[in-house]
Amino acid sequence: MTGAVAMTEEGALLFGSIEQLSERLWRGEISARELAEAHLRQIERIDGEIHAYLTVVAERALAQAEEADRRIARRRQEEGGAVDVRRLEPSERLVGIPWACKDVLCTEGVRTTCGSRMLEHFVPPYSATAVRRLDEAGAVMLGKVNMDEFAMGSSNENSAFGPTRNPWDLARVPGGSSGGSAAAVAAGEAVFSLGSDTGGSVRLPASYCGVVGLKPTYGAVSRYGLVAYASSLDQVGPIARSVRDCAIVFEAIAGPDPMDATSAPGPVPEVLPTLELGVKGVRLGIAPEYFGEGLSAPVREAVMGAVARLEREGATTVEVRMPHLEYALPVYYIISSSEASSNLARYDGVRYGLREPGDDVVAMFSRTRRAGFGDEVKRRIMLGTYALSTGYYDAFYVKAQKVRTLIRRDFEQAFERADVLVTPVSPSVAFRLGERVDDPLRMYLTDIYTLSVNLAGLPAVSVPCGFSPEGLPIGVQIIGPAFAEARVLQVARAVEAAVADQVAHRRPAVAVR
Ligand code: GLN
Repeated sequence: MTGAVAMTEEGALLFGSIEQLSERLWRGEISARELAEAHLRQIERIDGEIHAYLTVVAERALAQAEEADRRIARRRQEEGGAVDVRRLEPSERLVGIPWACKDVLCTEGVRTTCGSRMLEHFVPPYSATAVRRLDEAGAVMLGKVNMDEFAMGSSNENSAFGPTRNPWDLARVPGGSSGGSAAAVAAGEAVFSLGSDTGGSVRLPASYCGVVGLKPTYGAVSRYGLVAYASSLDQVGPIARSVRDCAIVFEAIAGPDPMDATSAPGPVPEVLPTLELGVKGVRLGIAPEYFGEGLSAPVREAVMGAVARLEREGATTVEVRMPHLEYALPVYYIISSSEASSNLARYDGVRYGLREPGDDVVAMFSRTRRAGFGDEVKRRIMLGTYALSTGYYDAFYVKAQKVRTLIRRDFEQAFERADVLVTPVSPSVAFRLGERVDDPLRMYLTDIYTLSVNLAGLPAVSVPCGFSPEGLPIGVQIIGPAFAEARVLQVARAVEAAVADQVAHRRPAVAVR
């Protein structure tokens, strides 16, 4: 499993950290073109089995890589040959670094499908702000990666283009909905990726694929150009192989944006300066509600094992209560489906996307929507439309909003006594393809520990903390108060360091054989 390939030159290119790779780029030891080519070869070699990519943009990537090489060459010349890599701005660390973009973020001139037949041939005329910021930072986009249709799902099996497979076990799901984003990073098919997280879609696949995923505070990253699922819950977040890489990408994409009225004002949040401060004196909140019925033994052991290691590093634990957590699942599915039923009304065959002709406009609408949407998307639209209908609106939608406030208050009270909460990401490790597709409720329960974070708008990170007996990765979730990204990443970094002996050296066999 550990893979000798990681020691080869190719392995070092595919599994290097952002800082390792950027040092080599700025020192002129490797070129961005070589680095991009190594990744394109890896995609060519293994993506037939993993199916993380829906679209690979090799030519565009090589052009971006050459631009990065020119940028580096110019700077080297200006500085008389050697660039002091320690003096680079954090965002300059991304020059020439290859990444993968979830197919829910608009990319100018590059097909953006959202995992749906509805947008199979949609080529956006503009890029999402997060994508544009990475373009400007000089990162190299390799392509667009697979996802559950319109980000609705927990396994990637709802993609109209076939599921992504988990690199650790090809018979299992990578988690969803950002499954392609997590699988690509785990398998050395990208250094980092962007995902979106409405109820767990960055954290869950990060956990199932053994990588790090950050769901930022609502408003920390612009949603401009993110195809809307549930607008009061959606956030864009980075996925990477280390907490530090995740932090670098977060700083590059975060900050206010005039194109998104819900993006938070104020300076770009800094998370790197405090990353290595450790957990001495940090109060870890443990809520029994996250460790009850339904949690599998290996996940419980790995999470509690990580807590014990943090305690040895000087953290303390406090018990906190989350009395309304049990309502998070119904509240989330009422609110997210209601917002989805409204957001997805725009796919009517008129302005863009699929159009199925009909005798009149109503027939055209309904034939288009029947052909364009998959079963899960239709289920959500029906649930949401029902919850918003006259006579049911107060009983479902309004009530869900009230309970949402109670959940937010539970967190506020918990954070009076604890600096962060430590919880599992998902009740189990990655499950088998097909295992839950016929049982929506069981599928929904996969997100039981992540949904409440979105309802409260908080930042949370999933960081690997161990492996199950069958060799599948397990993540632990660190949740913080609003805009405490620096704190959750600092604790996640401490977890990463504390479990390094068990986790750091392992790579999926498919990626290194
Ligand atoms: N699995 C959840 C859902 O289907 C969350 C998805 C997400 O975060 N985009 O809604």
